[in-house]
Amino acid sequence: MSTLIIAEHDQQSLRASTRSAITAAAVLGDAIDVLVAGENIGVIAEQIARLNGVRRVRVADDARYANLLAENFAPLIVSIASEYQAIIGAATSFGKNLLPRVAALLDVDMVSEVTAIIDSNTYVRPIYAGHLNATVRNDAAIKIFTIRATAFEPAIEGENLAAIAPLAATEATTLARWVSSAIQKSERPELSTARVVVSGGRSLGSAEKFQQLLSPLATKLNAAIGATRAAVDAGIAPNEYQVGQTGTVVAPDLYIAVGVSGATQHIAGIKDSRVIVAINHDPDAQIFQWADYGLVADLFDSVTELEKSLLH
Ligand SMILES: Cc1cc2nc3c(=O)[nH]c(=O)nc-3n(C[C@H](O)[C@H](O)[C@H](O)COP(=O)(O)OP(=O)(O)OC[C@H]3O[C@@H](n4cnc5c(N)ncnc54)[C@H](O)[C@@H]3O)c2cc1C
Repeated sequence: MSTLIIAEHDQQSLRASTRSAITAAAVLGDAIDVLVAGENIGVIAEQIARLNGVRRVRVADDARYANLLAENFAPLIVSIASEYQAIIGAATSFGKNLLPRVAALLDVDMVSEVTAIIDSNTYVRPIYAGHLNATVRNDAAIKIFTIRATAFEPAIEGENLAAIAPLAATEATTLARWVSSAIQKSERPELSTARVVVSGGRSLGSAEKFQQLLSPLATKLNAAIGATRAAVDAGIAPNEYQVGQTGTVVAPDLYIAVGVSGATQHIAGIKDSRVIVAINHDPDAQIFQWADYGLVADLFDSVTELEKSLLH
């Protein structure tokens, strides 16, 4: 079975979620091609070529792919779709925007947020905010699905050296154009694949307090920073920090929830974390039902104390 993975990158390096998609594809068979589109992306193509399991990297290096505009990417994927039995992307904002367009253009069904692949037609995906897992069967001629990155180990580099093949760009859309993007640059690990996540809730009060309190702790733990939706809605944390049902799903080794109530929609995004630590001054807070370790305390005192007690 030949599978096409859609690579996601920031024009400089490959997102870890694409590595997870490669691992997922390995369950389907050996012939795994990765499509990478962008401008001046030779380095990324080389990174992908070294990943175990990749047969070929197809590179569309063109200015029209300089921004990850789904309207331009979808026709490019469709132009080679007939060569594949499956097309896979990660369930990131990019993948969720792109893959349904590809499925619609090809007039096939798609399956979202796959967490396990049983065979080439049968997948497991969470439903009801992660409370149940549905096993679904897809008999479409081309299987299109997004995978949940946390459910698959990222593919690693090995002796592999896949062929790198250029791919002709398809016509650019005239209906949509990229206006601008405001991206927070961060040295921290990617939220969806971080081994440690420190998350804050609305109770942190302001954007300044949020950063002041959580950044030093996250830095010491080499952690990504997350937030609740209430914190994002209140302007305390940026959108891309949101963890939960409508945010990013995480499954780190350690999740530290600071002043987080533990609403169902937040839990939906963290419940696969290996260890959950919660700090909340309300002993009845729902988060304690999910926490492996709980500290009933005021966060403004305890977070700094915790950070100071950690070695560098
Ligand atoms: C359709 C839908 C989708 C949603 N998707 C998401 C999602 O993806 N992610 C998400 O997070 N939410 C989501 N929500 C919102 C969710 O229901 C909750 O409203 C939200 O998670 C609450 O955020 P919070 O815990 O920061 O705030 P609050 O509910 O206000 O809780 C604050 C907590 O902080 C504690 N606290 C206050 N002061 C202190 C202090 N000084 N020290 C220690 N503890 C303190 C309080 O005891 C309380 O438990 C969604 C809701 C809906 C309806």
